[in-house]
Amino acid sequence: METNQVDSIREKVKNCLRVSTEDATYLYNNSDDATLAELASMVRCRFHQEQDASYIIMAIVNYTNVCVAKCDYCSFYRLPHQAGTYLLDLEQVCAKVDALKSLGGKLVGFNGGFHPKLRIRDYADLFSKVRDRFPDLEFYEMTVAEFMFSCKLSKVSYDEGAQILKSSGTRWVTGGGAEILEDNFRKRHSPGKYTTADYFKAQGAILRAGMGSTATMVIGFDETLEERMSHLSALRQFQDSTNCGLTSFLCWTYKPWNNELGGVEVSTREYLRWLAISRIYLDNIVHIRTSVLTKNEDALLGLQFGANDFDLPTEDEVTQKAGATISHNFELILDAARALGYVPRKRAAFPIGGQIPTSQKTVVNDEVRV
Ligand code: SF4
Repeated sequence: METNQVDSIREKVKNCLRVSTEDATYLYNNSDDATLAELASMVRCRFHQEQDASYIIMAIVNYTNVCVAKCDYCSFYRLPHQAGTYLLDLEQVCAKVDALKSLGGKLVGFNGGFHPKLRIRDYADLFSKVRDRFPDLEFYEMTVAEFMFSCKLSKVSYDEGAQILKSSGTRWVTGGGAEILEDNFRKRHSPGKYTTADYFKAQGAILRAGMGSTATMVIGFDETLEERMSHLSALRQFQDSTNCGLTSFLCWTYKPWNNELGGVEVSTREYLRWLAISRIYLDNIVHIRTSVLTKNEDALLGLQFGANDFDLPTEDEVTQKAGATISHNFELILDAARALGYVPRKRAAFPIGGQIPTSQKTVVNDEVRV
């Protein structure tokens, strides 16, 4: 009976036993919203106080829109020969960081494209100059996707590229550009970007060099449930293999405007259900983040579906071009969390690493993992 199967998965979650891919698929297909919220909240409570919700004000600074990857779901890029391309210089980048500071921001994520002229040392040089100017801020300096392309262009291995960044003072390269980590999906939509195995090779090099990284996911293209589960499964395995090296997981929704792929954005309900599955399945990631950037105030409902953290974004041209709207009325967004009974707490940037509290056990195949 269906109910029995949900009950048996609930028992696993209660006892900190790992749920299988089949369990998660079953839950997604058969559980009501309240059950998903309940199970996701149980896993959330292993790591966080029930009413706690943390946030950080941040900007995504898009230093160039030049990209040769040609992903069909992208509304942002311009090919090098097209009109409207740009590459910001140091002063233009710093002006954007100043704008973030004036809004109380503490974190900058740099995100551009696969620029065919930028070598890994160019990035290292730019980032170290920006860091020198703003020693009180934290920087997510590249996405893994940009890192991989730049290493190839520079003819260095991922380990060598990571060492170049690390020795210039870089602290973070984030897991952005992951979308759906499944090779059939990648072939359909961005064959020139990377393979899934390559993505994790680069993530491994970043962590080995002692920098921090994160996990990301975007849903709502045309991916199947199997492809989504494959993404979560690969992430969970990678996290196990790196002793919980990734600090957080952020899932957001694809915005279907102004690009080749088009389509319809997934509903808030579907997003929340997927957030819950992610929290239940990714039992080795402490921080699950909900996306104000793509879901505005509705994102705060994600706190009831397993998320414990969110950004208050001040700008991101990539998603804005695709249809996202950004509000600087932070109190309005925080009120949405308060109305649900949460106490939003402004935080500093997370420390590097996964930080599973030693008391929080997950049992995998009879083996206790901490
Ligand atoms: S999603 Fe990123 S890699 Fe793909 S085309 Fe857009 S900017 Fe380039």
